[in-house]
Amino acid sequence: MFCCGIIEHMEDTIVAISTPIGVGGISIVRMSGAEALKIASQVFSCKTNVEDFVPRYMYYGSFKLNDYVEKCLCVYFKAPFSYTGEDLVEFQCHGGVAVTKEILTTLLSHGCRLADGGEFTKRAFLNGKISLDEAEGVMDVISAESHSELKAGYSLMKGNLHSVVTDIQKELTDTIAFLEVVFDYPEHDIEEITTKKVRVQLENILEQVTKLIDTHSTGIQIKNGCRVVILGRPNVGKSSLMNALLDYDRAIVTDIQGTTRDTLEETYIYNGVKFVLIDTAGVRESEDKVEKIGIEKAKNSIKTADLILLVLDGSQNLTSEDKEIINLVKNKKVLVIVNKIDLFVNNSIDSYNFSDVLYVSATNKTNIDSVKKSIYDKIIDENIVNSNVVITSTRHYSILCKAKKICQDILAGIDAGNSVELISVDLNNLWLTLGEITGETNNEEIINSIFKNFCVGK
Ligand code: GDP
Repeated sequence: MFCCGIIEHMEDTIVAISTPIGVGGISIVRMSGAEALKIASQVFSCKTNVEDFVPRYMYYGSFKLNDYVEKCLCVYFKAPFSYTGEDLVEFQCHGGVAVTKEILTTLLSHGCRLADGGEFTKRAFLNGKISLDEAEGVMDVISAESHSELKAGYSLMKGNLHSVVTDIQKELTDTIAFLEVVFDYPEHDIEEITTKKVRVQLENILEQVTKLIDTHSTGIQIKNGCRVVILGRPNVGKSSLMNALLDYDRAIVTDIQGTTRDTLEETYIYNGVKFVLIDTAGVRESEDKVEKIGIEKAKNSIKTADLILLVLDGSQNLTSEDKEIINLVKNKKVLVIVNKIDLFVNNSIDSYNFSDVLYVSATNKTNIDSVKKSIYDKIIDENIVNSNVVITSTRHYSILCKAKKICQDILAGIDAGNSVELISVDLNNLWLTLGEITGETNNEEIINSIFKNFCVGK
């Protein structure tokens, strides 16, 4: 199934510190491979002989270091019932930088090799414990910063996408087998019945694939955070609003125009979803070279925004600068924030008839929760966030787009009267394309590039 290059060095016993390096309660050093238990027996001792350890039981004992002994716990997982599918031993030691490193060095001196980034998970994949998409789910779970990201990662790791893909592949296998039979009986009416059957099946697959593709824009928002750009002329209170939404002073607030000269990005979590707030330089005519670059950046950030918070000063009438900015975002998703309602309000804003407008005071933190709720409601599609499978990975997304195109081409081919032989070849191609998601049909380069991004020790 895999090129031999991928499985080279599988005979090595590998080791890594699996917890972050630093001071903490405990650290875990993990070792995987055929020699793991033997090496453990050379360095660790307790009442039970290490070679007789019962798998999945914790043993308290002594780890022999150069000139002292570390009292720690050891657990053994016997192949194939371990994370990697190989013999695996973990030491839980005191969580200190020196202790952990000395344990690692000792294990290395007994014949282990330092694991590459993601090598434990890569071995789990190569040993058939998990598929490629499930391995990617593991990484997503580890790096998740919000609940929705964690949920999507967990769903991937649990195999939800995997089962959708393999179900489609199973259907394709049955049809390809059926077509093989038709090759032997090439009567015209059988061909016609067959292509009709394939058409119905492909339409169904196309629908499933399209549904998955449609979750990707929400998937990107879940993974990277929804981009909310705060826009307005200088001094309307953009930075104050940013600080109020973040609930701490991130941006500098002054009454001097042009203070924010670059874009500032910060994240916050609301209702389990990550939002990236982008405070921009106040948009106005400026001769200042640095400020001009900031204003250009502000305008550019509009392009990638999921939502614009258009901030107006409620204590003043709309200016020509305000009107220019309103014009700039007229085709975007916008939430208008009328700020400074703590000051006397008598202005032209009310007559402007904005569809989505909230009145706030950034300094007094009035109505800030309503802003957060409205941002969430305007961006998030809860049906997708709560669905069984959300496509967060661009790799999966592009494979699905490729699969969609193949489906459409086969359907067009059927309409053009393609032979069952040709249809069968195309169906095979579709099967292989979908197999790239689960890792069944990937090449070494793709697989290595995926695991390269994992941290060492996972
Ligand atoms: P920016 O240039 O749009 O980022 O505006 P800032 O956040 O720097 O605020 C400009 C000035 O308006 C500062 O003096 C703030 O204290 C003041 N300001 C901001 N928000 C409010 C508000 O809600 N009420 C009042 N009274 N002043 C505010």
